[in-house]
Amino acid sequence: MNRVRCLVFNAALGPLDYRVPDNMTVEYGSIVVAPLGPRQIIGIVWEEERLPTDPVPENKLRPILEVLPVPPLRPELRRLIEWTANYYCAPLTSVARMVISSGGALRGPATITEYRLSGGLPERMTPKREQAMGALEGEQATIRELAELADVSDGVLRGLVNQGVLEPVVVDCDRPYPRADDAHATVELNEQQTAVARQLAEAVQSRKFAPYLLDGVTGSGKTETYFEPMAAALRMGRQVLVLLPEIALTEAFLRRFEDRFGAPPIVWHSSLKSTERRRAWRAIASGQAQVVVGARSALFLPYANLGLIVVDEAHEISFKQDEGVRYNARDVAVMRARFEKIPVVLASATPALESLQMAESGIYERLDLPSRYGGAQLPEIRIVNLTEEPPERGRWLAPSLTRELFVRLERGEQSLLFLNRRGYAPLTLCRNCGFRFQCTNCSAWLVEHRFSKRLACHHCGHEEKPPLNCPECGEPECLVACGPGVERIADEVAEILPDARVAVATSDTLNTPEKAAEFVAQAEAKAIDVIVGTQLVTKGFHFPELTLVGVVDADLGLEGGDLRAAERTYQQVAQVAGRAGRGAKPGTVLIQTRHPEAPVIEALAAGDRDAFYDAETEARRHAGAPPFGRWAAIIVSSEDETEAREAARAIGGTAPHLQDIAILGPAPAPMALLRGRYRYRLLVNARRSAQVQDVIRDWLAKLDLPRTVRVSIDIDPYSFV
Ligand code: ADP
Ligand code: ZN
Repeated sequence: MNRVRCLVFNAALGPLDYRVPDNMTVEYGSIVVAPLGPRQIIGIVWEEERLPTDPVPENKLRPILEVLPVPPLRPELRRLIEWTANYYCAPLTSVARMVISSGGALRGPATITEYRLSGGLPERMTPKREQAMGALEGEQATIRELAELADVSDGVLRGLVNQGVLEPVVVDCDRPYPRADDAHATVELNEQQTAVARQLAEAVQSRKFAPYLLDGVTGSGKTETYFEPMAAALRMGRQVLVLLPEIALTEAFLRRFEDRFGAPPIVWHSSLKSTERRRAWRAIASGQAQVVVGARSALFLPYANLGLIVVDEAHEISFKQDEGVRYNARDVAVMRARFEKIPVVLASATPALESLQMAESGIYERLDLPSRYGGAQLPEIRIVNLTEEPPERGRWLAPSLTRELFVRLERGEQSLLFLNRRGYAPLTLCRNCGFRFQCTNCSAWLVEHRFSKRLACHHCGHEEKPPLNCPECGEPECLVACGPGVERIADEVAEILPDARVAVATSDTLNTPEKAAEFVAQAEAKAIDVIVGTQLVTKGFHFPELTLVGVVDADLGLEGGDLRAAERTYQQVAQVAGRAGRGAKPGTVLIQTRHPEAPVIEALAAGDRDAFYDAETEARRHAGAPPFGRWAAIIVSSEDETEAREAARAIGGTAPHLQDIAILGPAPAPMALLRGRYRYRLLVNARRSAQVQDVIRDWLAKLDLPRTVRVSIDIDPYSFV
């Protein structure tokens, strides 16, 4: 090739053509540095016909400056980038950026200088130095990363370097990872597991696209089972990607993986240090990385030789990204498997209705693990009708639930209370004048957090200290907390069971992999009697001594009534119930509700999953909702309310009139103010056959809106706020 077309990392520019100097070889997928005016930009060499633009005459072409020393992006990945951009109405460059997610990985030098404490002391101790030295015990990283860890400025650390308190260490950035051994410690699978494992291993060997829904009850051993096709892929020298919905689950997975394969997998998530990121990216691109476990962003990495994808807890809504490129990793995982011609396993005890429907229609093959491993029984489920058996005034746990908690403590067994609300109380108001604390940037109440003594907005992160007097009427000591969060439930447990050791498990308390690991270790060592947690503890965890689960408010998820409210409630309660009785002792689940007659509660009580899914499927079919029809949301926002409203009206005014597409709105979004931007929303409801993306693209392209207005398109939305 002597001229090439590049996809460049600047969304404002289209594709650009360049000349290839005589002494340079490039191919499709090569990552190159090219001139743009006086600057240099990074681009990916792309097939010309797939990236149409006005051709530049030969004599105007500028030369490529450099081909970066990484393998070219494979055509399978280039097709995935195109598909994702097209399906989710996102710029190609934004999707490509998710692939090139480590700038450092593209560059040559393979060493970096990191720093660690040398054991020496500074000539003069200052509070900042002391803070840094305390925080950096056992750490080794670049100055900037250490500064972040210790929450001090770079300057403080440079001072410590000059005094020899921090010493430099030269590290090879690309040192290879330890090898996983497919035969390290094999487990004997039971009959059901063996049948499933064998079928999946054969699918890996046949190198064909094959999507599976692994539908196994909680505790059936889905992980042990999918370890076998992973081992098959390793034997073939191929890579495996495991997607998990939360970083907090990674620790438990790491341990089990290491027990089975003798070496840890490679971890990928957004809080990796830049050196870890670079090392992982390069090992993935070169093929040295064997098994990668990660959050959804791991899906777009440049695997050299992918042989299998597993999406664990595939029903989880955190696989849907709600900013930037708004994609659903579960769906994109299936597409990636299709382009790579490999199997993909969606594992869950409570599959998404969409996935079940795909299995129903024969597109996914369904594999069942219908019983718990080792003869453990599914827990007994009981409904606590709060209208008949209310908690005492100012409390949230009904007498029968507190009795059960008491019994578990007596027996030395563990309990788990589930409430999907972080903090102490979701609303604070003034007893005197009724003033309610609201976020200044969002249409949301501020949530009281007692541990950290602050009022916080869960949408934008805004925080303030709770005042002593009401800011409205000035009355002292008049603020009351309304409603419970997990911290308040923990207080209640401490009052009822003063001897119990209570742990709160939320994204506030388990916000790093280390803290999550510590929590798991404590729970396993029986150093915790009662866990009070949010959805974070509903899945993945396996505590054999946990025999009681209490669902504090099963009605909470049904409020707001979005499309998936009932499904989500079913999944959360069934998953958290699945934490009970996983060992030798049977489990009991108490579900507190004011609506025992709601179909989802009845189905949970009866343990009748099929009845729930059947009813839900019919409701969705009737409403033309996914998977029978499709939704898309168009959110129009601006810092200026009038501007947002007018832009939304302009969009609504030019809405196309089509047979198979209905457009609702514009209307103020339920979150009418979010992070300081006023928001209006249009909803598009289409038949499955409609070309929704094309329609939306054509429609919006005709409008000329002020630059201060942001229009985001959410295809197959999960969030309706
Ligand atoms: P799931 O993911 O389906 O909820 P897990 O994979 O966590 O189930 O398995 C539940 C528990 O049973 C785990 O402690 C796991 O190690 C154990 N287990 C499952 N299958 C086997 C097996 N074949 N041999 C030994 N232990 C097993
Ligand atoms: Zn806010």
